Amino acid sequence: MFNKSTLSLLSLIICSHAFASSLEPYSKIEINNKNTLYTINDANIDLAASLFQNVPQSITDSLLKAHSGDSEPSFRTPINTFLIAKDGQNYLIDAGGGECLGQDGNKTRKVLEQLNIAPNKINGVLLTHAHTDHICGLATYNKEKDKWEPSYPNATLFINELEYQHWVVQENDKQVKAILNAYSNLGTDKIVKFKAGDKLVDTFEVFDAKGHTVGHSAFLWQPEDQEAWIFFGDIIHNTDNQFANPEITISFDSNPTDAIKSRNYFLEQAFINKWNIAGAHINSPGIGKVDFSDKTYKWLPHK
Ligand SMILES: [Zn+2]
Repeated sequence: MFNKSTLSLLSLIICSHAFASSLEPYSKIEINNKNTLYTINDANIDLAASLFQNVPQSITDSLLKAHSGDSEPSFRTPINTFLIAKDGQNYLIDAGGGECLGQDGNKTRKVLEQLNIAPNKINGVLLTHAHTDHICGLATYNKEKDKWEPSYPNATLFINELEYQHWVVQENDKQVKAILNAYSNLGTDKIVKFKAGDKLVDTFEVFDAKGHTVGHSAFLWQPEDQEAWIFFGDIIHNTDNQFANPEITISFDSNPTDAIKSRNYFLEQAFINKWNIAGAHINSPGIGKVDFSDKTYKWLPHK
C-alpha cells in the first residue's frame, strides 16, 4: 500500500497505537486433512480519510459527524498475511511490514513461532506487490553487518515480473533491492518472476490485479474438491466503504482507473464464482465472501 515516502509517517502513527489493537493475531481454517489456512494480523495502522479519493459526499459527511473534534478522521486498518500449509509445505502470501512499520507490527514471524513453524520451514512467499507493508517482513536489517538478512532462508520468493522491473530496474528502489538481494544472494533460483496466467508450485493461479501497482497480482487457490480462495492483496483498503463504492481509490494507487477496474473485476468474479476472498487490508478476520444485492457489493465476513 505504501511507498517509501510515507514510511516515517506510518511509523509514528503505529507507535501511538501500540496497545490499541483488539484483533486476534491469527485464525485457523482446516480446509481438509491436507490443507490448512491461517490468516495472520501482522499489524494495524490508521489510514487518514484524506488519503481516499472519489469518496461520495454522504460518506464524507457521516465521517466528519462521527469524528467531530478530531483533527483528521482516520480508519483503523489491518495488515494481513496468509499462511497455507499443504502436504507438509508452507507458503506465505505476502510477508507483512516486518520491522519497517514499528514495534507493534511484525506479528507474522511471532505467530509462526507460536505455531512451531521454524523460519526455515517456509518453502515460499508469494508477493501480491512490493510495497513496504507486504515485503519488509521478508528480511531483517542487521546494523552491525549493514545488510538485510532473510527471515525465511529456505523460501523461494515469487514476484510479478512487471513489479520486479518497476521497483528494481526503473525506480532503483534501495529498500526493495536490498530485501530481494537477501534472497538472491543465497542462490539465483531463489527469486521466481511470474506473469498473469502462470500456475505457481502447481497450486496458485496468477491473476493480473494491476492498478494499485503496475504488477499487483492475485492468486487463486483451489484445494481438491473444495471452495476456491482468491488472495487479492490491496484490492480493498477500506472494508466499510469500498465494497459498496468500488470507485473509491487511495492515493497509493499508481493507476486509479486500473485500480477501480481490478476491484470491480474481482468483486464480480468472487460473487459469481462464490470464491472466498482474502485481503491484505480487509477487517478481521480478513476473509469472507462477496454478496451482491440492490446493485451493491457487500462483504460477508468468514464465520
Ligand atoms: Zn498494502
